[in-house]
Amino acid sequence: MSQGLVTVTYIGATILFILSLGGLNHQETAQRGNIYGMVGMVAAILATVFSGAINTPSAHILLIIAMAIGTIIGIKLAQEVKMTQMPELVAILHSFVGLAAVLVGYVNLIAPEIEITGVEKTIHSVEIYLGVLIGAITFSGSIIAFGKLSGRIDGKPLLLPARHGLNLGLVILMIWLGKAFVVSQATGSGLLFLLLMTVIALGFGVHMVMTIGGADMPVVISMLNSYSGWAAAATGFMLANDLLIVTGALVGSSGAILSYIMCRAMNRNFISVIMGGFGTGSGDTLTPLTTSSGKVIAISAEESAQLLKVAKSVVIIPGYGMAVAHAQHTVYEITKLLREQNIKVRFAIHPVAGRMPGHMNVLLAEAKVPYDIVLEMDEINQDFPSTEVAIVIGANDIVNPSAQEDPNSPIGGMPVLEAWKAKTAIVLKRSMAAGYAGIDNPLFYKENTRMLFGDAKESLGAVLSYLHKSP
Ligand code: NDP
Repeated sequence: MSQGLVTVTYIGATILFILSLGGLNHQETAQRGNIYGMVGMVAAILATVFSGAINTPSAHILLIIAMAIGTIIGIKLAQEVKMTQMPELVAILHSFVGLAAVLVGYVNLIAPEIEITGVEKTIHSVEIYLGVLIGAITFSGSIIAFGKLSGRIDGKPLLLPARHGLNLGLVILMIWLGKAFVVSQATGSGLLFLLLMTVIALGFGVHMVMTIGGADMPVVISMLNSYSGWAAAATGFMLANDLLIVTGALVGSSGAILSYIMCRAMNRNFISVIMGGFGTGSGDTLTPLTTSSGKVIAISAEESAQLLKVAKSVVIIPGYGMAVAHAQHTVYEITKLLREQNIKVRFAIHPVAGRMPGHMNVLLAEAKVPYDIVLEMDEINQDFPSTEVAIVIGANDIVNPSAQEDPNSPIGGMPVLEAWKAKTAIVLKRSMAAGYAGIDNPLFYKENTRMLFGDAKESLGAVLSYLHKSP
């Protein structure tokens, strides 16, 4: 393939990636966005493979074997992964990008393809150092995020004494090692400094994510998403591959924007998050898990159906439990039935509901819920006082009033859906267990709250059959 054709294909792939990001902005265009992304990626891979950079038969054979193994693992994972496991899958995929950046950095150092000298060598040394640095932090941070999201590592924040001082000390040390590396690379003897920095960066990534409390994890996920993009861009610089630089920058900057949006949603400070300080809510002020002493009022599926039938307006708040129970299709059946009876039904989506950004939107889209009745938190929160029934389906932290009432709570300051302001709030869950943040929820003890205990899909199935029985 001629260099000109490779460049044109790379530009085409870049345009497709931008169109893909644009498409993913709205549910209606998300499918198209995915297709653009896939076509762009296939074009990018083909152009790279046939660009002439890989020029021996053995290299081609190795590449084909590696790609075949990767494709088989990827297809198997995509087929088998449950929707509730998606966040941890995304976390582990981020770690691969970080690991790739580290490996490419070392290969560039140990076995450079071309000998360079002078300023060019200095610039290349900086590229290698930054690539390995970002890659190592992304790699170890993502592994810890994977552990926390899959429940293999305790979700509670690890609060070492003087942790901010420790972070600052490590950053200063890594900057000093960077200078020493670049200077000693002039004589080709920088490996030791790079190794030392890699160990520190791996430790930094572990510490950075270990300090995050349960409810702040969404911010970390989007931040690691951004880091993985910058790691890919750094790899692009090391390999002098323009497409990788642009694609990495796209992922890095869109991840940074997502982190900013998540920070705003969680009422956390963006700067302290990217610096590893992580806001105000997960720090020293952690409150122990408390149990509210109020009374809980249970409700049956039949009584819930009665309440829904006479309501004029209903707001449904889906949460992680809806994903666990796979209840979205039954939710939609109920929605259709109520709407046929001229009851106003809308969905309220909290930005961190579930376990990944957009989790609830994906589930509701899968169940074919019309987009125009799915509203963001800011669009619907003021409507709760005029809502007759708010149904909370497997949600907990995102409807917890202590976020507003208790500044010392781990979720203190986080905006929440004000379900308790509806005339009646029906909460569907299996027990009185806490949500992801591990804290009690005063909503369950409010006078106007009714608890419908059981698996959300089974409870909703029962509600649906009562609604059918008595139209
Ligand atoms: P929560 O984790 O707070 O609560 C989920 C609730 O669902 C639990 O209390 C559980 O109670 C209930 N549940 C579980 N399984 C079922 C079932 N089969 N049927 C009925 N109920 C069930 O979820 P939210 O969506 O309210 O909040 C999300 C939390 O996750 C926030 O703290 C957020 O910060 C965090 N997070 C979000 C991420 C994101 O990007 N969106 C990423 C990482 C973390 P019970 O066991 O009694 O049934």
